[in-house]
Amino acid sequence: SLKGKAALVTGSTSGIGLGIARALAAEGASVMLNGFGDAGEIEKLRTDLEAEFSVKVAYDGADLSKPDKVAALVQKTQDALGSIDILVNNAGIQFTAPVEEFPEAKWEAIIAINLSAVFYGMKAAIPAMKKKQWGRIINIASAHGLVASPHKVAYVAAKHGVVGATKVAAIETANDGITVNAICPGWVLTPLVERQLQDRAKEAGTDVETEKKKMLQETQPMLKFSTPEEIGALAVFLSSDGAATITGTPISIDGGWVSH
Ligand code: NAD
Repeated sequence: SLKGKAALVTGSTSGIGLGIARALAAEGASVMLNGFGDAGEIEKLRTDLEAEFSVKVAYDGADLSKPDKVAALVQKTQDALGSIDILVNNAGIQFTAPVEEFPEAKWEAIIAINLSAVFYGMKAAIPAMKKKQWGRIINIASAHGLVASPHKVAYVAAKHGVVGATKVAAIETANDGITVNAICPGWVLTPLVERQLQDRAKEAGTDVETEKKKMLQETQPMLKFSTPEEIGALAVFLSSDGAATITGTPISIDGGWVSH
């Protein structure tokens, strides 16, 4: 059980982050939600989670492309929940184009949100975790933190960077009761992937269902999507005492993608 633990999950108003927030709350952790979306819907999500799992759930809409906002979000988590024991750096965006056509502003935004925010989050949270001599940092990288695909130069660079930053933070905190790991999902059917499927269907003159099959066949021996619930279950395990000596590791949950 994670009763008494306080977790910040960035980018948790949707997709994988929401799956992780739900899974941590189900184990009794209090949760700070973050991410964009309709204010009314987010407030309903917050109160629904509180009611369903009888834990405190807070929300802050910090824009993680801004370094000072990341540090402030970590502080707000401590103010609202009393501590920060589990940090899940999950917020991320995608954009696809060949290198020579890749817009510079998209490169900057992806590096800021997918990579730099992970650094700023860890930098802000590690002192409090060290003081308590307990902490769990879970960085959501990707299969693209380990291997490449075309048209994803910024994303692949950022996710490889996340895996590297994870290893450094892990070895620095190895004797402070803190573990730092990266989860590397393959395909998960979230709004981030649904947008890619729609673009692909438009380009190929097909439909989303056809592109789903093709997308999986291109990269994953196992022809099914992982779910936000499954990523949440892995985050719960990494937060548990059973995972106390797993640190500095990129953990694939990808239907065999990077193995073949
Ligand atoms: P999603 O689009 O469903 O959710 C992204 C979340 O991040 C949302 O809550 C959004 O509001 C938030 N966000 C975006 N920009 C933000 C910003 N500047 N500040 C604060 N919050 C911001 O996407 P997802 O698929 O759930 O992706 C979550 C993470 O998982 C990302 O890091 C992504 O790269 C990674 N990932 C996804 C897949 C997949 O197949 N879906 C695979 C591997 C890794």
